[in-house]
Amino acid sequence: MRLILLGAPGAGKGTVAKMLTGLDGSVQISTGDILRGEVRAGSDLGKAAKQHMDSGGLVPDEVIMGMMEKRLQQPDAAKGFLLDGFPRTIPQAEALDQLLAKLGIQLDAVVNIDVPRDVILDRLTTRRTCSNPECQEIYNVKTRPPKQEGVCDKCGSPVIQRDDETEEAISKRLETYNEKTAPLAGYYEKKGDLLTVSSTSSDEVVDAIKKRIGM
Ligand code: AMP
Repeated sequence: MRLILLGAPGAGKGTVAKMLTGLDGSVQISTGDILRGEVRAGSDLGKAAKQHMDSGGLVPDEVIMGMMEKRLQQPDAAKGFLLDGFPRTIPQAEALDQLLAKLGIQLDAVVNIDVPRDVILDRLTTRRTCSNPECQEIYNVKTRPPKQEGVCDKCGSPVIQRDDETEEAISKRLETYNEKTAPLAGYYEKKGDLLTVSSTSSDEVVDAIKKRIGM
């Protein structure tokens, strides 16, 4: 399947994407994960991206498009992909349209996961993530803590709070989302591609997607 997952930070895009990859071998492509990998590796791209990321702003469109043009042409994306956190601005969506047309790829749907703001805020402040880049399991200190505090159940690596999950960065990320990313729902609605799912349950979101694409 070929999907774009839209939604505020903390709406559950990553969780839903991980659930969908198990269905047909489509890969999750998260620009946030790719960027965090570049930051860890200390690459020029990572150095340029880090300040934007830590402050809750966006990495420039040209940087993201260069990165995604390469990523979408890697062999594992041929089976299908779930775009998580991309596009995030109207110029990125327009550039993606052009890129997909050039590559002869058609999307199955654009899914907007709509979750109330108070739930988002609560989730982001209580979210913890496995620090192992190969794992990145997501926990929640209130609703899904690791069995042993601070240690990933799956791989044993430390479970951490992301640098951009301080209260200040979170409120900036939500502001950035409202200003730059929320308008994408209207953009895809006009094109007739949009499926909005208002639910805080990832299982329900996955079911709605399966129904939409006939799985
Ligand atoms: P995420 O893990 O998707 O919340 O992304 C973490 C951070 O990476 C964001 O707050 C942005 O600074 C940056 N980022 C991720 N995806 C994009 C994108 N498509 N465009 C611009 N910046 C992005």
